[in-house]
Amino acid sequence: MNIHEYQAKELLREEGLPVLRGKPAFCVEEAVAAWEELAAPEELAAPLVVVKAQIHAGGRGAGYFKSDAGKGEAGKGGAGKGGVRLCRSQDEVRQAAESMLGHVLVTKQTGKGGKLVSRLYIEEGAAIERELYLSLLVDRSKASVAVIASASGGMDIEEVALKTPERIVQTHIGVDGFKAWQARKIAFALGLQKEKNSVKEFARLLQKLVVLFRKRDVALVEINPLVVRPDGTLLVMDAKMTFDDNALFRQQDLESLRDEGEEEPSEREANAVGLSYIKLEGDIACMVNGAGLAMATMDIVQHFGGEPANFLDVGGGADKERVETAFGIILKDKAVKAILVNIFGGIMRCDVIAEGIVAAAQSLDVHVPLVVRLQGTNFEQGKEILARSQLNLTTAETLSEAAQKAVAAARQH
Ligand code: GDP
Ligand code: MN
Repeated sequence: MNIHEYQAKELLREEGLPVLRGKPAFCVEEAVAAWEELAAPEELAAPLVVVKAQIHAGGRGAGYFKSDAGKGEAGKGGAGKGGVRLCRSQDEVRQAAESMLGHVLVTKQTGKGGKLVSRLYIEEGAAIERELYLSLLVDRSKASVAVIASASGGMDIEEVALKTPERIVQTHIGVDGFKAWQARKIAFALGLQKEKNSVKEFARLLQKLVVLFRKRDVALVEINPLVVRPDGTLLVMDAKMTFDDNALFRQQDLESLRDEGEEEPSEREANAVGLSYIKLEGDIACMVNGAGLAMATMDIVQHFGGEPANFLDVGGGADKERVETAFGIILKDKAVKAILVNIFGGIMRCDVIAEGIVAAAQSLDVHVPLVVRLQGTNFEQGKEILARSQLNLTTAETLSEAAQKAVAAARQH
C-alpha cells in the first residue's frame, strides 16, 4: 500500500525526523487559508510556501498538467507548471491550487494517462544548501533491508544510477541491527563532514528511520531530497512510503491512510471478495487457482508468444460466486482478447469451477474466446457440466495445449 507525501511526513514527524510545517488541502480555499499560517519562515527574507500536488507518483516537480500542455515548457519547481510550485503570495497559492486541483498531472512515473490531483499539500518554504538522496527498502536478493544514499539528490535517482553509479552508496542492515558506524560511513560518503554536526545529525536521523521501517512494516521509504540547510541542519523535503500489504493486518491504523482514488478499481473489487488480482499489460486473461500455478500459467503463456492480461488467483476455497466475480473483473478489461482458465482441482473441485463458468457465461456477456483446462478432483463432472451447457468454449488436456490455444485465439480475435 502506498500513501501520500503529507501522510508519510506525518509518520516521520511522529518518529522525530525533521519535517517542515504543512497542511493538506482538499479545495482551493483550504490551500489559500494555509498561507496565513505557513508563509513566514524565519530564515527566509520573503514569505514563501510550496504547493505540492499529492498523487501516488514521483517526478511531480518536473511534470506537467494536461490542461497546460502546449503552453510552454513544463518547469521544475519555481515558476514552472509542474506539480510542485513555490508561491510568494496568497494570490499565487490560489492560482497554483486552481490550476492543480481537478486537473491531470503527467510525470515520468504516471504514464501518459497521468493522475488526477484531488489533494494538495501546502508546506512552508525553506532555503536549500544541498539536496541528498536517502532510501530504505527490502532487498529480497539479500534477504535484508538496503540503505541507499547519494549526494546527487533531488533529481531522478534512476538516472544517477545509470549514468554515475559511483555516486550511489549502499549498505545493508545486518541481522544484529544497524550500527552507528554504518550511518557515519554513509554520512561521510555524502560529504556531511563539511558541515558542523551534520554527521551526528544524519546518523541519528537514519537510526530513527530504521526504527520506523521495522515498527511499521515498511517496504520502502524514500527521501528525495533530504535537504542540507544553509546552517548545516537536515530536512526531509519529499517523502515516499510503501507498506508491506501482507503485514497490514497488524498495522490496522494505517488503513485510514489508504486513498482508494489512487488504486486500480478492478484490483480493489477483487481484493474485496478475496481474489488476488493484479492487472497487467497483455491481452490473455488468466484465471487460475493457486499463486504458483498462476505464475506458471503466465510463464507458459509468454513462452508461446502471448502476454498475460492479469495475474489472478481465485484461491483454494473459491466458490461459484467468486468465480463469477472473477469473470466479471476480467471481462471489464477492454484489453482482454482471450480467457484462459487453468484449474487444478485439489481442495477446489472442478465441478464447482465449471458451474461458476456456466453461471458467469449466463449472466455476463463473454465476448471473447474461452479456453478451459480442468485437472484433478471431479474433473470429469466438470467437463460434463461444460459440455451440457453448450457454451462456446475450447477445452484442453495439458497446460501447454491450453496456453497455445489461448495465444492462437487471442491473435485471431
Ligand atoms: P517530486 O518532483 O515529486 O520528487 O517532488 P519534490 O517534493 O521532491 O520537489 C521537487 C523539487 O522542488 C525539490 O527537489 C526541490 O528542489 C524543490 N522544492 C520543494 N520544496 C521546496 C522548498 O520549500 N524550497 C525550495 N527552494 N525548493 C523546494
Ligand atoms: Mn522528490
